[in-house]
Amino acid sequence: MEVSEKMYKLGTKRSAIRELFEFGKRKAAEIGKENVYDFSIGNPSIPAPDCVNEEIKRILTEEDPVAVHGYTSAQGDEATRKAIADYLNKKYETEFTPDNFYMTCGAAASLTIVFHSIVCSNEDEIMTAAPFFPEYKVFVEGTGAKLVVVDADKKNFEIDLKKSEELINEHTKAFIINSPNNPSGVVYSEDTIKALAELLDRKQKEYDHTIYLVTDEPYREIVYDGVEVPFVTKYYANTIVTYSYSKSLSLPGERIGWILVPDEVKDSKAVYAAVCGAGRTLGYVCAPSLMQKMLVKCVGQTGDVNEYKKNRDLLYNELKEIGYNLRKPEGAFYMFMEAPNGDSDEFSKRAMTENLLLVDADSFGCPGYVRISYCVDHDMIKRSLPAFKRLYDSYR
Ligand code: PLP
Repeated sequence: MEVSEKMYKLGTKRSAIRELFEFGKRKAAEIGKENVYDFSIGNPSIPAPDCVNEEIKRILTEEDPVAVHGYTSAQGDEATRKAIADYLNKKYETEFTPDNFYMTCGAAASLTIVFHSIVCSNEDEIMTAAPFFPEYKVFVEGTGAKLVVVDADKKNFEIDLKKSEELINEHTKAFIINSPNNPSGVVYSEDTIKALAELLDRKQKEYDHTIYLVTDEPYREIVYDGVEVPFVTKYYANTIVTYSYSKSLSLPGERIGWILVPDEVKDSKAVYAAVCGAGRTLGYVCAPSLMQKMLVKCVGQTGDVNEYKKNRDLLYNELKEIGYNLRKPEGAFYMFMEAPNGDSDEFSKRAMTENLLLVDADSFGCPGYVRISYCVDHDMIKRSLPAFKRLYDSYR
């Protein structure tokens, strides 16, 4: 074989979520879409806010058609980066400038660029806490570094700081956090963020090198009941923020997001330059131009998050009533549920016999649980409840 074995393996082995999603599509063709209860994938189920389509139409009819579809600066249009900086400064009382931002094709690109820009050797380690988004492993290993996973704290799914401390060593280069969390729906508390910042600060002094806190935040605006998501740059200087509009603006197919390197980061200009270099190496320059232009007007908007809250409340209350053990999520659109017999692989397979597609959380580093994506049609949740009940009863 004359291709990279590493890439061949990645390309031929589908993710567990994708496998399930494809199974759902085949099953729907066989027995009808209305009889398949697909809770597998995190595709937003609410439309983008009106502002998005209105602004895209305006740009396409009123602006210079050549410029609209032309290249932007490699790091993104100045006007877009300024709109984002202004929005964040107003909301979080920060002092970012357009020069702190690098526009990307969504969170996947933001994360791969950041990892490529900070990893210096194959001995470098990047840590995260389970449960975690499985693609982190692919993104980190793609740089040659190693992903080190802190076991889940099953009490409340915050970060287990004691175990984190045990795993940090002289090779630790960064810690990735994702809050609101995919798959648990947890929003890390301010206390957790403060304690993690204190730990990383202490460890970077001990080892005499920077440990970056990389925050992956595509769900920042998807929170319920007035929960606040701490803005992490305020707690830890060496924070790099990665963001995406895939979820907040319901635009996963349009591929738009950004990286924020605040001035407070040690040698921030050099880090930003390395981000530009990694963007170049990976071919992620000039994020989609039309989306960048749309953002100047629509930054800060969201779809109707209340629709997700309605889904969360119905599903959580009904599953609890049936007898399942699960945690009420504060954000994102995922629920994390314990397999009744503790075997999540067997449970998700048995769920398939009821045409219920639930993701085995093994790939999220947390066996014994399944992830339920409730960014789905509300009526599908109602139709699925008898199947959830039969599934639960089959264990009694
Ligand atoms: N990070 C997390 C936690 C996610 O859940 C996702 C997508 O589901 C991504 C990153 C990738 O998002 P994007 O579509 O912006 O690349």
